[in-house]
Amino acid sequence: MATMENRTAQVVLTITTEAAVRAGKIRSGSIPVDLTEEYLAGLTPEQREVVAGMAHTAVFGAVEPTLDELTRLVNTQLAEKAEKRQKAEEEAAEWRRQAARVIAERRITEDGKVDWPRRPDGWYASDELIAAMRAEDPAVAELEMEAEAVAEAVQREKRKSQEEEAAQAAAARYREACEALVRQIGTQDQVERMEAGMLPNSERLDLVYSHIFRAFAGKERYRRLTAEDACHDDDCDDPTDVEVEAGDCSAATAAQWQEIKEFRSLLSEQETRDGADVDLRWHEVECWRCRGKSRRWSLRVTIYWHGKAMTREYAATPGNLADAEWGD
Ligand SMILES: [Zn+2]
Repeated sequence: MATMENRTAQVVLTITTEAAVRAGKIRSGSIPVDLTEEYLAGLTPEQREVVAGMAHTAVFGAVEPTLDELTRLVNTQLAEKAEKRQKAEEEAAEWRRQAARVIAERRITEDGKVDWPRRPDGWYASDELIAAMRAEDPAVAELEMEAEAVAEAVQREKRKSQEEEAAQAAAARYREACEALVRQIGTQDQVERMEAGMLPNSERLDLVYSHIFRAFAGKERYRRLTAEDACHDDDCDDPTDVEVEAGDCSAATAAQWQEIKEFRSLLSEQETRDGADVDLRWHEVECWRCRGKSRRWSLRVTIYWHGKAMTREYAATPGNLADAEWGD
C-alpha cells in the first residue's frame, strides 16, 4: 500500500485514440506523467500555475504521455487565455469607441436636457444604452463627462456671443443717439468737432447729461465725501486713512420725503413709464484712526435713455435718523 509521502507528483494526460492515431502514435487512454523537479524549475511561474491546475482534472488533447507534450498543452492553455484577454480588451475598446461616437453625436437641448441621436439601425440611441455602456466600462462615464463639458462650453459660448451682440447693438444705438443729440442741441463748433472725431468725450457727456437732466438744472448737485469731511480729532495721526460707504435709505425724514416727491414730479410721464426713479441715498466717511465721521444724503435720479440707465445725484436735506433706520 503506497503512502502519500512516497508518491511522485503526476499529471494525468488523456490521449484519445483518434488524436493518437492522427499524430502517428499508438498509446491511448488516461496516462499519468511523472513530474520532475528539473522540469518544474524550467517552467515560468505562469506555466507552473497551469500545471498546478491540471493536478485534479483529466487533461484532454494530448497525443503522447511525455513532459514535452505537457509543456505543449500548458502553452496552448496560456495562449488561449491570452487570446481571451485580448478579445475582452478589444471588446472594451469597441464599447468605448461606440460610446464616444454616441456621446459625440448627442446634443444638449436648449432646456439643458440630453438629446441622444436617433439612428435608423436603432443600435445606439438611448439613455439605457449609455447606462449599459457605463456599467460595462467605467471609462464611458469619463467620456460622457468630457462630452458634457464640451456641450456646455458650446452653449456658454453661444449665449455669450448673443449677449455680446445685444450689448454691442445697444452700445451702437446709444452712440448714435448721443451723436443725434449733439447735432440737435450742440453749437456748430461742437458738431464740427464731433464730425471730425475731435469732440472730447467729457464735453459730449456734459451735453447729453445736461439735456437728459434738464428738468433738474436748478438743483444743487451732490458733492462726494472726501477724507477731509470726516470730523477728525485734533490729534488724528492720519486724516487720509478713511473709508467711504453709501447705500439706499430705508427711511426718510418728512423734509426728505417732500424732496423725493418734488424730484419725482420733475420726471416726465414717459420717463416714469420707462422706469425712471428717485432714490434717497446715505453716504458716510469714517476715519480708521480717530473714528471721526460725517454723513451726507443725496437724491439719485435714474433716467433710462436709449436703453441705458443714466444717473445723477443731487444734494438732499441732511437726515436726522437713528443709525438703524439708514438701510443699506
Ligand atoms: Zn481721523
